[in-house]
Amino acid sequence: NASTSAVASDVSSRTPPYSRLLKRLREVRRLLPTRALTLAEKILFSHLDNPEESLLEGTNNGADIRGRATLKLKPDRVAMQDASAQMALLQFMTCNLPSTAVPASIHCDHMIVGEKGADTDLPNSITGNKEVYDFLESAAKKYGIEFWPPGAGIIHQAVLENYAAPGLMMLGTDSHTPNAGGLAAIAIGVGGADAVDALVDAPWELKAPKVRGVRLEGKLSGWASPKDVILHLAGKLTVRGGTGYIVEYYGPGVESLSCTGMATISNMGAEIGATTSIFQFTPSAHIPYLHSTHRGSIADQAAAIAASPEPHNLLIADSGAEYDDEVVINLSELEPHINGPFTPDLSTPLSIFKQAVEANHWPQTFGAGLIGSCTNSSYADMTRCESLVRQASAAGLKPKADFFITPGSEQIRATVDRDGTMQTFEEAGGMVLANACGPCIGQWSRTDGVSKGEDNAIFTSYNRNFPGRNDGNRRTMNFLASPELVTAMSYTGRTDFNPMTDSIPLPDGQQFRFDPPLGTDLPSAGFAAGNPLFQPTPPTPVSSVEIVIDPSSDRLAVLEPFEPFPQGELSGMKVLVKVKGQCTTDTISAAGPWLKYKGHLPNISENTLIGAISADTEAVNTVADVDGSTHTIPELASKWKAAGQPWIVVAEHNYGEGSAREHAALQPRYLGGRIVLAKSFARIHETNLKKQGVVPLTFANEADYDRMSGCDEVSTEGLYDVLRHGGNGTVNLVVKKSKSDEEFSVPVKFNLSKDQCGFILAGSALNLLSQRSKG
Ligand code: SF4
Repeated sequence: NASTSAVASDVSSRTPPYSRLLKRLREVRRLLPTRALTLAEKILFSHLDNPEESLLEGTNNGADIRGRATLKLKPDRVAMQDASAQMALLQFMTCNLPSTAVPASIHCDHMIVGEKGADTDLPNSITGNKEVYDFLESAAKKYGIEFWPPGAGIIHQAVLENYAAPGLMMLGTDSHTPNAGGLAAIAIGVGGADAVDALVDAPWELKAPKVRGVRLEGKLSGWASPKDVILHLAGKLTVRGGTGYIVEYYGPGVESLSCTGMATISNMGAEIGATTSIFQFTPSAHIPYLHSTHRGSIADQAAAIAASPEPHNLLIADSGAEYDDEVVINLSELEPHINGPFTPDLSTPLSIFKQAVEANHWPQTFGAGLIGSCTNSSYADMTRCESLVRQASAAGLKPKADFFITPGSEQIRATVDRDGTMQTFEEAGGMVLANACGPCIGQWSRTDGVSKGEDNAIFTSYNRNFPGRNDGNRRTMNFLASPELVTAMSYTGRTDFNPMTDSIPLPDGQQFRFDPPLGTDLPSAGFAAGNPLFQPTPPTPVSSVEIVIDPSSDRLAVLEPFEPFPQGELSGMKVLVKVKGQCTTDTISAAGPWLKYKGHLPNISENTLIGAISADTEAVNTVADVDGSTHTIPELASKWKAAGQPWIVVAEHNYGEGSAREHAALQPRYLGGRIVLAKSFARIHETNLKKQGVVPLTFANEADYDRMSGCDEVSTEGLYDVLRHGGNGTVNLVVKKSKSDEEFSVPVKFNLSKDQCGFILAGSALNLLSQRSKG
């Protein structure tokens, strides 16, 4: 079969470089002879470019690594989704290299709309995005990147099925890259500029994370599913609880999980802000999964490494390894949870959800139940949902809410199609969407008559639920749950229905009650190959391939370098907007209809901060200029750019949370933003800002946020000196109020490595890279 042979021929480029990693691990042991390592540390440290420099410098000779050391890492692989790949490739192209330094893949998933079903939506999306897909495919062929065409599947599912492997370390230009941690890999979500580091063989920097242990005990049963582990944990730890941490799962409960269940849990580590999540190598789950996805040789190598004695064992945490913090979850006692609306950490156990609906005046009905996506479309998920649909169909019931199914990959779609699961869904009235992100990323053309601005609810098995995330309507309340719960609840369309305890009345007066779902982790007949057209291009560079970008395109534009930092302090900047409350990367660079401009910086910049609430006007996307005229935020930014007026953004906590979207850093930079001053930052976004030459600073005294307003004039004092040396510390901003003569100093904190200072001084990381490659 086509799929099996393609995979077999590429398995060597998909196998982690185990002998090199084991050698590096021995070197790490020599440097840290008495330290017991967590699994996350073993894999990270065995990918260090120079272990001695990273582990011993500035760490009390290795005593104080976590949170202190700057790890310079050499990842094994890079994966990019179509929306973020455009900018990554445009940046890579400026370095004039013949091929990528590490194996890489591109996955066309984000730009495919969900509307009428896969058969119609996929060809329409291919036609609508042809220019971009042609660009990505030609660049992939030229540089030897595997190109997975539209319809092949969602990046994280394709990575799990083909590239993730125990001990691998990879970067992905998408925040749910940690999905691969379900297969004992370290997989980190980054912006395109970080991916370019790996693609050009420059070490990729990461502040050594702390490690939070999650010990799983007991065994899942009945309605409780892997999704509930992370929904519960998100409620406990909040969206900021994982910041600066890798979450490492271990304990006897892990044995009861499937590989894909572990991937679901790792995937949503992004929702608690974790650097990544990882499961210990678990032979009972990982070996069968590797075999069923045609990677038996990797299974054998991983099993042999895991069976070797402790000092050489790359895949199991050392006994006595210490965690900075530990959470214990008893799977036997875990009940299903529902998280939302609007934030993934508002977590309510199913048993009291009905009361929460009443207390919060959430809608009692919901219009759509959506299952699948990169988070929850495994064979186990689909077959468990199927068991519920079969029960309901046998009782003569049809879903009351619209019911959508998004397979994560062609392999999973073809397999559940072959095994009859898809037909069960379709006969019940479910609509199968393309193997793509669709409604999870705002690419959802709703046809159920809900208008923009109308309060309504939906239930999804997805991972994210920010306002506007699914259908562009900020009033749509997205409740996150397991696919099983979404499926069962869709049969009443009621938010206050508890399928574990409530019944549905039947026309004959009888009552129908669901039995708990039952499914199968892996297909007994193996995975089906699917449509051969959805196989990737080979990983061999073809230098003769021309990459053509039409100069008149409104979707793609060749990247112009940003100007370098001035030789001195920044002065005369103005506050463009003082953002009130949550400011996610969606707030800064909205998705949905804007996704099509990802490769065209001037055009996509017209959405900059359109979701932000101004603390001055209390309105979304409404700010005033010095003369009192009101504007949208991108309008004022463009006006100031044209006038040569540099500006800053002032914001509250966790600025830039939510995704690795580098456009959220590129766009402000392009429009003339120089500094973002916040109470705190989300990790990936803070790094992205530095890479694009924007300086992220945090308030030393948070109360100073209240003293600042839009149009205040801001200058730096001492920043230029900091940029020549790097480090952590405090400098001052001088603020002149726009509406009075008042002037005051605001102490602000910086945290800048030497390399990051180099990026900012050069204008961007890319400027520095091309300066270096020119020699
Ligand atoms: Fe696609 Fe949604 Fe998964 Fe992101 S979270 S990769 S948008 S399915």
